[in-house]
Amino acid sequence: MIKTEKVLHLKSSRGRKVRVVREHYLRERVPCFSSLCQAGCDNDGKVLPGDLTHYVVPDAEVVVNFLEVLELTELQGVVFTQTACQALHSKGRRFYNRLKSLLRDPRHDCVLFANEFQEYSYRPREKGESQERWQSRCVYAAAAWYYHHLAGMMSVVMVTEDQEAVSRFSSLNSGVFVISFQDYLQNFWPGLQAAHELYASISQALQEKEAEDSSREFSEHLPAEVLEAGIKSGRFIQGTLNVSKHRAQNEALVTNEGLSSKNPDLSGGVLVFGSKSRNRAVHGDAVAVELLPRSEWRGKVTALTEGQAEEKSGEDGETKPMPTGRVVGILQRNWRDYVVTFPPRDGTQNQSRNSQRILAVPWDRRIPKIRISTQQADALQDHRVVVRIDSWPSTSLYPNGHSVRVLGRAGELETEVQTILLENCIHVAPFSEAQLREMPLNSPEQPWSVDPVEAGRRRDLRETHLVFSIDPRGCEDVDDTLSVRRLAGGRLLELGVHIADVTHFVSEGSLTDLEARSRATTYYLADRRYDMLPGVLSADLCSLLGGVDRYAVSVLWELDAQSLAVTSVWFGRTLIRSSYQLHYELAQALLNGEEAEVPELARLDPAERHAKLSELTEALEKLTHVARHLRAQRDRGGALELEGVEVRAQLDEEKNITALVPRQPLEVHETVAECMIYANHWVARKIQEAFPYQALLRRHPSPRQELFRPLVETGRARGFAIDTRTNKALADSLDRAVDPQDPLVNRLLRMMATQAMSQAVYFSTGAQPEDQFYHYGLALDRYTHFTSPIRRYADMVVHRLLTAALLLEQGAEPGKTPAGNKDLEELSEHINNRNRAAQRAQKLSVGLFQCLFFKERDPATDPRCVADGVIYAIRDNGVLVFIPEYGVKGPVYMRNKEGQVATTGPDGTCEWQSGSVRRYPDHIVTTSGCGSATFRLFDHITVRISVLSTNCHADTLNLEVISNKPHCGPAPPKPGSQGRSQLVQEVVRLAEEAQEKAAQHRPKLSREEREYRQSRTPNLYSILEEIRELALMDPDAAARVCAASV
Ligand SMILES: [Zn+2]
Repeated sequence: MIKTEKVLHLKSSRGRKVRVVREHYLRERVPCFSSLCQAGCDNDGKVLPGDLTHYVVPDAEVVVNFLEVLELTELQGVVFTQTACQALHSKGRRFYNRLKSLLRDPRHDCVLFANEFQEYSYRPREKGESQERWQSRCVYAAAAWYYHHLAGMMSVVMVTEDQEAVSRFSSLNSGVFVISFQDYLQNFWPGLQAAHELYASISQALQEKEAEDSSREFSEHLPAEVLEAGIKSGRFIQGTLNVSKHRAQNEALVTNEGLSSKNPDLSGGVLVFGSKSRNRAVHGDAVAVELLPRSEWRGKVTALTEGQAEEKSGEDGETKPMPTGRVVGILQRNWRDYVVTFPPRDGTQNQSRNSQRILAVPWDRRIPKIRISTQQADALQDHRVVVRIDSWPSTSLYPNGHSVRVLGRAGELETEVQTILLENCIHVAPFSEAQLREMPLNSPEQPWSVDPVEAGRRRDLRETHLVFSIDPRGCEDVDDTLSVRRLAGGRLLELGVHIADVTHFVSEGSLTDLEARSRATTYYLADRRYDMLPGVLSADLCSLLGGVDRYAVSVLWELDAQSLAVTSVWFGRTLIRSSYQLHYELAQALLNGEEAEVPELARLDPAERHAKLSELTEALEKLTHVARHLRAQRDRGGALELEGVEVRAQLDEEKNITALVPRQPLEVHETVAECMIYANHWVARKIQEAFPYQALLRRHPSPRQELFRPLVETGRARGFAIDTRTNKALADSLDRAVDPQDPLVNRLLRMMATQAMSQAVYFSTGAQPEDQFYHYGLALDRYTHFTSPIRRYADMVVHRLLTAALLLEQGAEPGKTPAGNKDLEELSEHINNRNRAAQRAQKLSVGLFQCLFFKERDPATDPRCVADGVIYAIRDNGVLVFIPEYGVKGPVYMRNKEGQVATTGPDGTCEWQSGSVRRYPDHIVTTSGCGSATFRLFDHITVRISVLSTNCHADTLNLEVISNKPHCGPAPPKPGSQGRSQLVQEVVRLAEEAQEKAAQHRPKLSREEREYRQSRTPNLYSILEEIRELALMDPDAAARVCAASV
């Protein structure tokens, strides 16, 4: 090792230049990470393959400016130099972290070469040499080193944006090429359109940035050290900027979980009003704010605005002035990819010959318009385009960005669905070939079979246990099965839950594992789903289908047959063969003693069939008996039934999302769910005991009492006392709050209760005190997710933890130590975040379908646009209604923009007249010259539904009151009836027609369409079945989906 000195010129915080001399150690051996290496480098980890045509070494400037292009997985054999890496680091942590994750990700074929530690490639900086010139000299030396180190077996291409470097270095070494990045992409990757477009778009933005004028629009941000000191001293407050959805122009709140503990005044956050005060902060950024003097504090605007039904707080009326501040600096930008729409050209936008700067409008209203320089402004009109923000200088009213790719024409179904995915950062490209290569083979020629060695390691239940599954009709991915049998001459009962052994097939850290981890869940949209795992696992080898041998992870309880108290529990890996694949209706029919055809028994002779049938029926009965007992136990503890009797426990299981809305309430739904809850609970106990500080559990925090206020007040308006002090009290009082005249009353109250709840979340046991482990909704002290490893990554983590716990117990060497508390907490955050994204996307896609449905109709003439709505909240200028027929919630204004109010004639028909509105706690009164009208909580009124289209954002439904009497059209369809599935059917049909029509003009699907249409079922019927079963169009769906994550 050689010691040299490295001289750095740094700028101090006061702007002085400081010369720092650092010892710099050079080594002869620095790993090259190439599989061609003959020199015996210590190449630990990812290596570059040897079968490429070349390796490419980008210089510092290319890495700093075009990292996005280098992030494309198609580019192979990329060597990042330490020099480039450091240059990126000085651009900002965010960029540096992106490079780090790129280097870690096995899907990207790139490595890091520590060129400045390598004795022969290190080049000290010369006196007077500019930083840029020195950097390119270093990178060239690194490229040349590679070529020689690999004995000329691999050509090396250095790419740079510096023409001078090209001419300086090109002729020095025969196997080392130096070309511009643009030439490189054109010559080596002519077909990689995405790279070319990205390159063009970024370099355009860079050019524009240089030509920027300099009149200042905003005050400068304070430097990081000043912010840090200010936060420490309490002069500044740090938090996350949340822009108001409904008043995005002016209102934003800076919130921070820790704020209220320090200063109760700030528990509601700090209001940032107006764009000058927001000072270029974008929704989601971590910012530092300075409070304004009290005299400048103001309140939030509270009148009802578009689509406001979903807001959590029932606050209304004039809010008091609250702490108000201005942004003084940005701690961290949290920019993501944004979908924007290029507005129609009206000639007022700045146009030069080659390029145009267009103000594109983000789909998310909370994001400011973004200035994009593009040469394709005409072609992009009315298209949805993915863009990234590059910078927001203080001299510019808007941030500058560049386009990444085009999604399609605004308003088309496919474009809109891709928009929803992108806006929620859901990336679901088809599984790559490399991932699929990891999958076990199972084809007609080479069917998969149980490995005898593996079988020897497992408890074999195939002959001893009657195992069966109960799922929705036609379910493909069966991840749970059940068994129940008598032991010890009837003194004991053994209950068994057997879950697909997914982690047997997906080893930790494999490509499939990484993909599943980054997806974290299967995504369900209204017309399709994106699976977390490849089909060969989810629908085949992991699916516990009937009549085939499958690996499982089982929990077996021995219960006292009389008291049902647990006498012992066994956990472990098993081998099972499910005997029956039942669906809910069939299982219930057997329980009810009805005639039912069990397909598995169809071929048997009558005597045998009878024997088997009674064996199965007896098992189902025992199961029901046990589940009733378990449910009663939880009920005593205060378990909540959030959404109507029929499917209560179902809500707790994402697995059973397909069973959320049965045609009729069946007890067997509850029975299955109860067993799953039991298994999850016991596994939670097991892993928490084994790993007290690093187990993945799921907690449901008690709700904040103030959020129950609207529920309590609404209940009171109808004469019900809702007690929210404990989950038990709430459950009991909700049970009593029933209006025999109107079943909707109870449903709405439960819906409001659900709204007030916080969401259940995953966490690491080391990150919370034990009293926070409680699951409020299920009334259990510990809970986790174990029963759906096919569609939830959390369950896969839990399976691994359980396996490790069992190995530990046996004193065996655990294969891999489980992740530590910090890593696990980070993973939990990621999964929670993805689950929220999945819910938002699902909700948005339902909304999309609703709008598409009504868009096709003329609200003035079509009777389907008129519906019955129930008032569930009162606001200053209107009410919120719920429309059971379509599952729509939304605001109905009693005063319109012209200041007219809705008054009613003798038959209840509304007319718009100038007048006034007066709000009371439980009703609202409109008065005009012609009389007055009263609208009360829980009143049924008639509304007309139409669509508000804006082109740049998602369409929304507009609800208009037309009568204060209930709607008396055709009888409203009963829950679960055809009305809603027809809605979806109709929309899908129209979309398919439109697509066919479009296909006549467009020879093939766009790249995005092909890329993203991953598991879209081609068969229309099955799509409809799935939607129906998912019940996404059901009135309760949105609320239920929320509850589903309990
Ligand atoms: Zn080597």
